[in-house]
Amino acid sequence: MSEFNLIKQHFTRDTHHTNLSIGDDAALISVNQGMELAISADMLVSGTHFFSDCDPEKLGWKGLAVNISDMAAMGAKPCWATLAISLPHADDAWLGAFSRGFFACARAFNIDLIGGDTTRGPLTIAVQIMGEVPIGKAIKRSGAKIDDDIWVSGTLGDAALALAGMRSQLKLTKNELSELEIALHTPQPRVALGIFLREVATSCIDISDGLVSDLGHILAASQLGANIQLMQLPISKIVSKYFGLESVKNLVLAGGDDYELCFTSPIVKRAEIERMSSTLTLPLTRIGTINQQTKLNVIANDQKMTITHKGYNHFA
Ligand code: ADP
Ligand code: MG
Repeated sequence: MSEFNLIKQHFTRDTHHTNLSIGDDAALISVNQGMELAISADMLVSGTHFFSDCDPEKLGWKGLAVNISDMAAMGAKPCWATLAISLPHADDAWLGAFSRGFFACARAFNIDLIGGDTTRGPLTIAVQIMGEVPIGKAIKRSGAKIDDDIWVSGTLGDAALALAGMRSQLKLTKNELSELEIALHTPQPRVALGIFLREVATSCIDISDGLVSDLGHILAASQLGANIQLMQLPISKIVSKYFGLESVKNLVLAGGDDYELCFTSPIVKRAEIERMSSTLTLPLTRIGTINQQTKLNVIANDQKMTITHKGYNHFA
Protein backbone atom coordinates (compact mmCIF):
# COMPACT_ATOMS: atom_id res chain seq x y z
CA MET A 1 0.00 0.00 0.00
CA SER A 2 1.29 3.46 -0.83
CA GLU A 3 1.95 5.89 1.99
CA PHE A 4 -0.83 8.08 0.61
CA ASN A 5 -3.39 5.26 0.72
CA LEU A 6 -2.23 4.15 4.13
CA ILE A 7 -2.86 7.63 5.55
CA LYS A 8 -6.19 7.89 3.77
CA GLN A 9 -7.44 4.52 4.94
CA HIS A 10 -6.16 4.43 8.48
CA PHE A 11 -5.81 8.00 9.64
CA THR A 12 -8.32 10.15 7.79
CA ARG A 13 -11.68 10.65 9.47
CA ASP A 14 -14.29 13.43 9.53
CA THR A 15 -13.35 16.40 11.66
CA HIS A 16 -15.62 18.59 13.76
CA HIS A 17 -13.75 21.76 14.64
CA THR A 18 -11.01 22.09 12.04
CA ASN A 19 -10.78 24.48 9.06
CA LEU A 20 -8.43 22.33 6.97
CA SER A 21 -7.44 18.80 7.97
CA ILE A 22 -5.23 15.99 6.60
CA GLY A 23 -4.15 16.26 2.94
CA ASP A 24 -2.39 19.58 2.60
CA ASP A 25 1.05 20.71 3.76
CA ALA A 26 -0.38 21.95 7.05
CA ALA A 27 -3.70 21.91 8.86
CA LEU A 28 -5.60 25.09 9.75
CA ILE A 29 -7.45 25.68 13.01
CA SER A 30 -9.06 28.67 14.71
CA VAL A 31 -9.04 29.24 18.44
CA ASN A 32 -12.22 30.66 19.94
CA GLN A 33 -12.16 34.23 21.15
CA GLY A 34 -10.85 34.67 24.69
CA MET A 35 -9.10 31.29 24.59
CA GLU A 36 -5.44 30.39 24.40
CA LEU A 37 -3.89 27.31 22.85
CA ALA A 38 -2.45 24.62 25.16
CA ILE A 39 0.05 22.36 23.36
CA SER A 40 1.79 19.22 24.52
CA ALA A 41 3.49 16.14 23.04
CA ASP A 42 4.12 12.65 24.34
CA MET A 43 5.94 9.82 22.67
CA LEU A 44 5.53 6.08 23.15
CA VAL A 45 8.56 4.02 22.13
CA SER A 46 8.50 0.26 21.64
CA GLY A 47 10.60 -1.48 24.29
CA THR A 48 10.50 1.56 26.58
CA HIS A 49 6.79 2.33 27.02
CA PHE A 50 5.19 -0.82 25.69
CA PHE A 51 6.06 -4.35 24.57
CA SER A 52 6.62 -4.64 20.80
CA ASP A 53 4.00 -7.42 20.59
CA CYS A 54 1.33 -5.51 22.54
CA ASP A 55 -2.24 -5.20 21.31
CA PRO A 56 -2.21 -2.40 18.68
CA GLU A 57 -5.79 -1.36 19.47
CA LYS A 58 -4.86 -0.68 23.09
CA LEU A 59 -1.72 1.10 21.99
CA GLY A 60 -3.81 3.37 19.78
CA TRP A 61 -6.04 4.29 22.71
CA LYS A 62 -3.15 4.84 25.08
CA GLY A 63 -1.06 6.86 22.62
CA LEU A 64 -3.80 9.46 22.46
CA ALA A 65 -5.09 9.12 26.04
CA VAL A 66 -1.74 9.97 27.67
CA ASN A 67 -1.65 13.18 25.65
CA ILE A 68 -5.23 14.08 26.54
CA SER A 69 -4.24 13.61 30.18
CA ASP A 70 -1.76 16.51 29.84
CA MET A 71 -4.59 18.74 28.60
CA ALA A 72 -6.72 17.67 31.58
CA ALA A 73 -3.88 18.57 33.92
CA MET A 74 -3.79 22.12 32.51
CA GLY A 75 -7.56 22.54 32.70
CA ALA A 76 -7.64 22.68 28.90
CA LYS A 77 -10.28 21.21 26.61
CA PRO A 78 -8.45 18.98 24.11
CA CYS A 79 -9.49 19.62 20.48
CA TRP A 80 -6.84 18.63 17.94
CA ALA A 81 -4.07 16.04 17.63
CA THR A 82 -1.30 15.18 15.19
CA LEU A 83 0.21 11.72 14.94
CA ALA A 84 3.78 10.99 13.85
CA ILE A 85 4.29 7.27 13.57
CA SER A 86 7.28 5.22 12.55
CA LEU A 87 6.68 1.58 11.64
CA PRO A 88 9.00 -1.32 10.75
CA HIS A 89 6.53 -2.30 7.99
CA ALA A 90 3.06 -1.31 6.79
CA ASP A 91 1.02 -4.16 8.31
CA ASP A 92 -2.60 -3.52 7.37
CA ALA A 93 -4.14 -5.54 10.20
CA TRP A 94 -1.89 -3.88 12.77
CA LEU A 95 -2.67 -0.40 11.42
CA GLY A 96 -6.40 -1.15 11.32
CA ALA A 97 -6.41 -2.17 14.97
CA PHE A 98 -4.17 0.73 16.00
CA SER A 99 -6.38 3.30 14.29
CA ARG A 100 -9.52 1.68 15.77
CA GLY A 101 -8.14 2.24 19.28
CA PHE A 102 -6.85 5.71 18.44
CA PHE A 103 -10.16 6.90 16.99
CA ALA A 104 -12.20 5.28 19.77
CA CYS A 105 -10.32 7.56 22.15
CA ALA A 106 -10.56 10.53 19.74
CA ARG A 107 -14.35 10.09 19.52
CA ALA A 108 -14.75 9.69 23.27
CA PHE A 109 -13.07 13.07 23.82
CA ASN A 110 -14.18 14.82 20.61
CA ILE A 111 -10.69 15.28 19.18
CA ASP A 112 -9.89 15.83 15.50
CA LEU A 113 -6.79 14.12 14.07
CA ILE A 114 -5.56 16.89 11.77
CA GLY A 115 -2.19 15.72 10.48
CA GLY A 116 1.02 13.90 11.15
CA ASP A 117 3.83 12.03 9.53
CA THR A 118 4.36 8.39 8.59
CA THR A 119 7.81 6.85 8.13
CA ARG A 120 9.53 3.49 8.17
CA GLY A 121 11.58 2.81 11.29
CA PRO A 122 11.47 1.32 14.79
CA LEU A 123 7.90 1.36 16.15
CA THR A 124 7.34 4.77 17.74
CA ILE A 125 4.20 6.81 18.25
CA ALA A 126 4.51 10.55 18.77
CA VAL A 127 1.30 12.44 19.36
CA GLN A 128 0.98 16.17 19.71
CA ILE A 129 -2.17 17.51 21.26
CA MET A 130 -3.68 20.97 21.24
CA GLY A 131 -6.53 22.30 23.30
CA GLU A 132 -8.24 25.47 24.40
CA VAL A 133 -8.28 27.14 27.77
CA PRO A 134 -9.67 30.59 28.69
CA ILE A 135 -6.78 33.08 28.66
CA GLY A 136 -5.08 33.11 32.07
CA LYS A 137 -7.09 30.15 33.45
CA ALA A 138 -4.67 27.28 32.77
CA ILE A 139 -3.71 25.42 35.95
CA LYS A 140 0.06 25.52 36.37
CA ARG A 141 2.32 23.46 38.60
CA SER A 142 3.64 26.56 40.31
CA GLY A 143 0.53 27.82 42.11
CA ALA A 144 0.37 25.65 45.28
CA LYS A 145 0.04 27.61 48.53
CA ILE A 146 0.96 26.79 52.15
CA ASP A 147 -1.87 24.84 53.89
CA ASP A 148 -3.54 23.86 50.60
CA ASP A 149 -5.08 20.40 50.57
CA ILE A 150 -3.52 17.86 48.19
CA TRP A 151 -6.04 15.76 46.28
CA VAL A 152 -5.88 12.89 43.80
CA SER A 153 -8.56 11.50 41.51
CA GLY A 154 -9.45 7.84 41.04
CA THR A 155 -7.17 5.17 42.49
CA LEU A 156 -3.39 4.80 42.39
CA GLY A 157 -1.18 1.83 41.60
CA ASP A 158 -3.51 -0.30 39.45
CA ALA A 159 -1.45 0.11 36.26
CA ALA A 160 1.87 -0.41 38.06
CA LEU A 161 0.52 -3.54 39.74
CA ALA A 162 -0.64 -4.88 36.37
CA LEU A 163 2.85 -4.37 34.96
CA ALA A 164 4.43 -6.09 37.96
CA GLY A 165 1.98 -8.97 37.46
CA MET A 166 2.77 -9.23 33.75
CA ARG A 167 6.48 -9.35 34.58
CA SER A 168 5.83 -12.03 37.25
CA GLN A 169 7.27 -9.77 39.94
CA LEU A 170 4.04 -10.28 41.84
CA LYS A 171 1.69 -13.24 41.81
CA LEU A 172 -1.85 -12.10 40.89
CA THR A 173 -4.87 -14.21 40.01
CA LYS A 174 -5.89 -14.25 36.36
CA ASN A 175 -9.00 -12.18 37.11
CA GLU A 176 -7.05 -9.64 39.11
CA LEU A 177 -4.50 -9.25 36.34
CA SER A 178 -7.12 -8.77 33.64
CA GLU A 179 -8.95 -6.18 35.73
CA LEU A 180 -5.79 -4.23 36.53
CA GLU A 181 -4.68 -4.38 32.89
CA ILE A 182 -7.66 -2.18 31.99
CA ALA A 183 -6.02 0.65 33.94
CA LEU A 184 -2.67 -0.02 32.28
CA HIS A 185 -3.94 -0.23 28.70
CA THR A 186 -6.92 2.09 28.57
CA PRO A 187 -6.34 5.01 30.94
CA GLN A 188 -9.25 7.47 31.21
CA PRO A 189 -7.97 11.03 31.03
CA ARG A 190 -9.77 13.30 33.55
CA VAL A 191 -10.81 16.06 31.15
CA ALA A 192 -14.09 17.05 32.85
CA LEU A 193 -12.34 17.22 36.21
CA GLY A 194 -9.55 19.39 34.77
CA ILE A 195 -12.04 21.87 33.34
CA PHE A 196 -13.85 22.09 36.69
CA LEU A 197 -10.52 22.63 38.47
CA ARG A 198 -9.80 25.86 36.54
CA GLU A 199 -11.81 27.71 39.19
CA VAL A 200 -10.81 25.55 42.15
CA ALA A 201 -7.22 24.27 42.02
CA THR A 202 -4.09 26.29 42.72
CA SER A 203 -1.88 23.73 40.93
CA CYS A 204 -2.35 20.47 39.05
CA ILE A 205 -0.37 17.69 37.35
CA ASP A 206 -1.28 14.36 35.82
CA ILE A 207 0.36 11.35 37.43
CA SER A 208 2.35 9.63 34.70
CA ASP A 209 5.65 8.88 36.46
CA GLY A 210 4.25 8.11 39.93
CA LEU A 211 2.69 10.24 42.68
CA VAL A 212 5.95 10.98 44.51
CA SER A 213 7.71 12.13 41.38
CA ASP A 214 4.82 14.14 39.95
CA LEU A 215 3.74 15.77 43.21
CA GLY A 216 7.47 16.53 43.54
CA HIS A 217 7.18 18.61 40.34
CA ILE A 218 4.37 20.68 41.87
CA LEU A 219 6.46 21.22 45.02
CA ALA A 220 9.57 22.20 43.05
CA ALA A 221 7.62 24.61 40.83
CA SER A 222 5.80 26.09 43.84
CA GLN A 223 8.97 26.07 46.01
CA LEU A 224 7.09 24.37 48.84
CA GLY A 225 6.92 21.02 50.65
CA ALA A 226 4.19 18.57 51.63
CA ASN A 227 3.17 15.80 53.97
CA ILE A 228 1.07 13.02 52.52
CA GLN A 229 -0.52 10.19 54.49
CA LEU A 230 0.15 6.70 53.19
CA MET A 231 -3.07 5.30 54.63
CA GLN A 232 -5.19 7.95 52.91
CA LEU A 233 -4.01 7.09 49.40
CA PRO A 234 -6.97 5.89 47.32
CA ILE A 235 -6.45 2.30 46.19
CA SER A 236 -8.65 -0.26 44.52
CA LYS A 237 -9.87 -3.44 46.23
CA ILE A 238 -7.27 -5.52 44.42
CA VAL A 239 -4.39 -3.22 45.31
CA SER A 240 -5.53 -3.09 48.95
CA LYS A 241 -5.30 -6.88 49.09
CA TYR A 242 -1.55 -6.64 48.40
CA PHE A 243 -0.91 -3.31 50.14
CA GLY A 244 0.80 -5.02 53.09
CA LEU A 245 3.77 -5.70 50.81
CA GLU A 246 6.44 -3.01 50.89
CA SER A 247 6.94 -3.39 47.13
CA VAL A 248 3.25 -2.69 46.51
CA LYS A 249 3.30 0.41 48.71
CA ASN A 250 6.14 1.61 46.53
CA LEU A 251 4.18 0.87 43.35
CA VAL A 252 1.26 2.94 44.63
CA LEU A 253 3.56 5.82 45.61
CA ALA A 254 5.90 5.73 42.67
CA GLY A 255 4.86 3.16 40.07
CA GLY A 256 3.43 5.50 37.48
CA ASP A 257 1.08 5.15 34.50
CA ASP A 258 -1.89 6.17 36.68
CA TYR A 259 -3.02 9.14 34.56
CA GLU A 260 -5.00 10.48 37.48
CA LEU A 261 -4.85 14.17 38.44
CA CYS A 262 -3.02 15.39 41.54
CA PHE A 263 -4.02 18.93 42.49
CA THR A 264 -3.87 21.41 45.33
CA SER A 265 -6.61 23.72 46.52
CA PRO A 266 -7.51 25.87 49.54
CA ILE A 267 -9.41 24.26 52.42
CA VAL A 268 -12.50 26.41 51.67
CA LYS A 269 -13.01 24.47 48.42
CA ARG A 270 -13.51 21.07 50.10
CA ALA A 271 -17.31 20.96 49.86
CA GLU A 272 -17.27 22.09 46.24
CA ILE A 273 -14.73 19.40 45.34
CA GLU A 274 -16.75 16.72 47.12
CA ARG A 275 -19.86 17.77 45.18
CA MET A 276 -17.91 17.53 41.93
CA SER A 277 -16.75 14.06 42.93
CA SER A 278 -20.39 12.86 43.06
CA THR A 279 -21.35 14.71 39.88
CA LEU A 280 -18.51 13.06 37.97
CA THR A 281 -18.87 9.75 39.87
CA LEU A 282 -15.11 9.95 40.27
CA PRO A 283 -13.48 9.49 43.68
CA LEU A 284 -11.54 12.58 44.76
CA THR A 285 -9.42 11.96 47.83
CA ARG A 286 -7.54 14.30 50.14
CA ILE A 287 -4.11 12.81 50.74
CA GLY A 288 -2.16 15.55 52.52
CA THR A 289 -1.21 19.17 52.97
CA ILE A 290 1.23 21.66 51.47
CA ASN A 291 3.71 23.17 53.93
CA GLN A 292 6.49 25.74 53.91
CA GLN A 293 9.35 23.25 53.76
CA THR A 294 10.76 22.15 50.43
CA LYS A 295 10.47 18.39 50.56
CA LEU A 296 7.87 15.67 50.37
CA ASN A 297 7.29 13.44 53.40
CA VAL A 298 5.19 10.33 53.21
CA ILE A 299 3.77 9.60 56.67
CA ALA A 300 2.87 6.07 57.79
CA ASN A 301 1.96 5.35 61.44
CA ASP A 302 3.07 8.87 62.40
CA GLN A 303 6.54 8.09 61.02
CA LYS A 304 8.27 9.40 57.91
CA MET A 305 8.61 6.65 55.34
CA THR A 306 11.60 6.08 53.13
CA ILE A 307 10.69 5.78 49.51
CA THR A 308 12.94 3.43 47.62
CA HIS A 309 11.74 4.10 44.12
CA LYS A 310 11.34 7.70 43.01
CA GLY A 311 9.34 7.25 39.81
CA TYR A 312 10.38 6.53 36.29
CA ASN A 313 13.30 8.53 34.92
CA HIS A 314 14.50 7.75 31.40
CA PHE A 315 18.02 9.01 31.95
CA ALA A 316 18.69 8.13 35.59
P1 ADP B 1 4.48 16.12 3.52
O1 ADP B 1 5.36 15.43 2.57
O2 ADP B 1 3.98 17.47 3.09
O3 ADP B 1 5.00 16.10 4.94
P2 ADP B 1 3.00 13.73 3.98
O4 ADP B 1 2.99 12.90 2.75
O5 ADP B 1 3.96 13.40 5.05
O6 ADP B 1 3.13 15.25 3.55
O7 ADP B 1 1.54 13.76 4.59
C1 ADP B 1 0.42 14.03 3.80
C2 ADP B 1 -0.73 14.48 4.68
O8 ADP B 1 -1.07 13.43 5.55
C3 ADP B 1 -0.38 15.67 5.55
O9 ADP B 1 -1.55 16.45 5.67
C4 ADP B 1 -0.01 15.05 6.87
O10 ADP B 1 -0.29 15.94 7.93
C5 ADP B 1 -0.93 13.83 6.90
N1 ADP B 1 -0.38 12.68 7.64
C6 ADP B 1 0.74 11.97 7.38
N2 ADP B 1 0.90 10.95 8.24
C7 ADP B 1 -0.14 11.01 9.11
C8 ADP B 1 -0.55 10.24 10.23
N3 ADP B 1 0.14 9.19 10.68
N4 ADP B 1 -1.69 10.61 10.86
C9 ADP B 1 -2.39 11.67 10.44
N5 ADP B 1 -2.08 12.42 9.38
C10 ADP B 1 -0.98 12.11 8.72
MG1 MG C 1 5.48 14.46 6.05
